[in-house]
Amino acid sequence: MSKRAVMALSGGMDSTSVLVRLLADGYKVSCVSYLYGQKHSIELERAKKNIAYLQSKGHDVVHEIVDLTSAMNLFESALLEGGSDVPEGHYEEEQMKATVVPNRNAIFASILYGYALSVSMREGANVSIALGVHSGDHEIYPDCRPEFYTALEHAFMIGNWDSEKVSFMLPYLEGDKTSILKDALNACDSLGLNFDRIFENTITSYNPDGDGRSSGRSGSDVERILAFHALDLVDPIEYVEPWTVVLEAALATERAHKDAYYKEKLSELQYHVSRLSGTEQAFTGMYWDEKRKGRYTCVCCEHLLFSSEMKFDSGCGWPSFHSEDRRAAIDHVEDRTYGMVRTEVRCSKCDAHLGHVFDDGPREHGGQRYCINSASINFEEMEE
Ligand SMILES: [Zn+2]
Repeated sequence: MSKRAVMALSGGMDSTSVLVRLLADGYKVSCVSYLYGQKHSIELERAKKNIAYLQSKGHDVVHEIVDLTSAMNLFESALLEGGSDVPEGHYEEEQMKATVVPNRNAIFASILYGYALSVSMREGANVSIALGVHSGDHEIYPDCRPEFYTALEHAFMIGNWDSEKVSFMLPYLEGDKTSILKDALNACDSLGLNFDRIFENTITSYNPDGDGRSSGRSGSDVERILAFHALDLVDPIEYVEPWTVVLEAALATERAHKDAYYKEKLSELQYHVSRLSGTEQAFTGMYWDEKRKGRYTCVCCEHLLFSSEMKFDSGCGWPSFHSEDRRAAIDHVEDRTYGMVRTEVRCSKCDAHLGHVFDDGPREHGGQRYCINSASINFEEMEE
């Protein structure tokens, strides 16, 4: 007997990824989509198209549409009919809280649990309830947190007979949008499915236009666009503007968001040096004369860069290292400012400016001198 799963199919990226992953892993899948008074029904139309495509390819998928409109008419949310306008901006910003639907995931999960128990009774099978929950889901959506689902499952187990036959499955718990999309790509490859066609039939935007096209500007759009970009893919759905325009806007939103984050996190000098490629004065930084044993990490993102064994006294007034950590993969960039040609070094993870590298370092270690600003690094002392 094939493995059995039920899941909620919203028509978004995460649940669509869960679906193709389950199929690739050999599950028979029953999907539930909810009508709950959402402002548009495009997500359901697209979910139906994907189900039809998967069925045409011979996959064992059932699709049920559950109408919760009258119950959820009682609720207040920008996502629902009659609610306020959907805010634009970064998905981590406070204003995105208007896009929360109160207690939505508890309601959806309750229905899935009852459905899974029923499937288990009918078919005499153990049933997994697959959820696309991931740790990258944001604090704005507290009902996306893993601990919420753990608590729900515990309550459902206590409150039902035969609950040992049903369990939550959270394949993406440790993932984020990018790793989920990558997994979907792999699942599609292994099933011989057309990835673009499947993701063309998804929608992430909360406020598409009449033709179902997204502006690319809502928080969830930005997150989606950046995930496709991170995998060097072009999102197959149509946006109001061309891909290059929505991508540039998403990157700008991300930059502004990160910039605000760094301004908050860093001192004025650290921000000036690491984010604006500044230079601290020689012999003034925290670490030019640092001799303790330990590790040096990026001040912005904590990426490991150097260890104290790589440090040497160059006399130049800035922390100097002859090598970088094996995993640091520091970016080397040609720098033609101030009428010189130098090699700038930047953090490979967050693009922080670190300093420059010169070829007058100690010969026995390869001859390089990483001349690094103290303001771009943190030092963590370590015992042997
Ligand atoms: Zn960094």
